[in-house]
Amino acid sequence: EQGFFYRDTWAEVDLDRIKNNVKEITGHLSEEVEFIAVVKANAYGHGDLQVAEAAMEAGASMLAVAFMDEALALRKKGITAPILVLGASRPGDVNIAAEEGIILTVFQKEWLEKAQDALQKDATLLLHIKVDTGMGRIGIRSVEELKAVEGLIEEDPRLDFHGIYTHYATADELDDTYFNRQLSLFREMLSGLNHQPSVVHSSNSAAALMHPDARFNAVRIGIVMYGLAPSMEIAPELPVELQEAFTLHSRIVHVKKLEKGEKVSYGATYEAPEEIWVGTLPIGYADGWIRRLQGQEVLVDGKRSPIIGRICMDQCMVRLPYEVPVGTIATLIGCQEQESISINEIANKLETINYEVPCIISSRVPRLYR
Ligand code: PLP
Repeated sequence: EQGFFYRDTWAEVDLDRIKNNVKEITGHLSEEVEFIAVVKANAYGHGDLQVAEAAMEAGASMLAVAFMDEALALRKKGITAPILVLGASRPGDVNIAAEEGIILTVFQKEWLEKAQDALQKDATLLLHIKVDTGMGRIGIRSVEELKAVEGLIEEDPRLDFHGIYTHYATADELDDTYFNRQLSLFREMLSGLNHQPSVVHSSNSAAALMHPDARFNAVRIGIVMYGLAPSMEIAPELPVELQEAFTLHSRIVHVKKLEKGEKVSYGATYEAPEEIWVGTLPIGYADGWIRRLQGQEVLVDGKRSPIIGRICMDQCMVRLPYEVPVGTIATLIGCQEQESISINEIANKLETINYEVPCIISSRVPRLYR
């Protein structure tokens, strides 16, 4: 089931941790609030099918992805749960969505008109309307357009107005000024509707945990389900205990002693300052372990061991604490003995957000499930 592979680099995804996170988060929501598990981008790099199944088992009732391709991939793998496509789909593709029971996002009146033109006579298409209250990405921006869209949906028996939602730009910040502006604009837009659809949602992870007043009757949970805080700013304030689910490992494939002055990797930029032990890891920038991670430490025998010299496409070298046998595990993300390297440490090193880290570990790295 795990698939066989011939390389000594792999990621491990702990599905029990994902299930525990879902249960922990659900414990903070009232019963009538639906948990929409956000599994776009291959479940933030964790594996779409495995995370979708784990999340549904732990209490999620719906899934969300970015593109129709992601929804169709889940259907092909046997997922029958409701799936919402958050991003823009092509209006010409609505019949496939209708056939597969995939919920699409209406974000513009013109989009809906084109979709109606393309939709077959006897089709049923489930729709959520996306309102842009300040994210400035996609969505309807005026009550007037919202009413027009609602009217078109209500008049067309092929269309099912299943939900409405918005997305916050600053939910992961402690200052809630802009957040509150978006929330009240969303409420104003909702009051312009003839009928409220069955699913009304606005909150991502940060909003769901920090702003109980904005939960409506569903929340869209991504990052905290994977055990990561939405931002360092609100991390200490989160009312939940999270468990990171993603770890990354490799095995040392070559061990050697270098004399003082000997060089390592492209450009020969690293020079051994004394006699040192060096290990080669079969992971490189084509795996998402990008060149900027030069100098980052990995764990070998429970000790921090820095990456020396330039990271190559498929390999990199580390300075070992001492001679270790070929085949010794190097942990790039995760724990060994008392030491641990978190996704946040890698994000800091890359001057980016934790979301990006598991996403950029490429599909060449096999994912193993526990
Ligand atoms: N909703 C929408 C529209 C999103 O784009 C995303 C992800 O970026 C989410 C929800 C989930 O956000 P988070 O991972 O912060 O929970």
